[in-house]
Amino acid sequence: MKVVVDMKACMSNALCMMAAPEVFEVREDGMLYILNETPPEELRAKVVEAVRLCPTQAITIEG
Ligand code: SF4
Repeated sequence: MKVVVDMKACMSNALCMMAAPEVFEVREDGMLYILNETPPEELRAKVVEAVRLCPTQAITIEG
């Protein structure tokens, strides 16, 4: 699984971080950082939830 975020679409509201803090982190600089672009399968449900929660459809899962 590969996680891709369209940074132009991201509004840094951290909803993805709520769902999958192992993968997404919005820092004090207001930017979203992907902590792990290729998370293990165990995290798939959390990443899928992050995709669902993202209001701008900025997150894509490849594979
Ligand atoms: S939920 Fe979407 S808009 Fe919000 S920080 Fe994550 S990627 Fe960006």
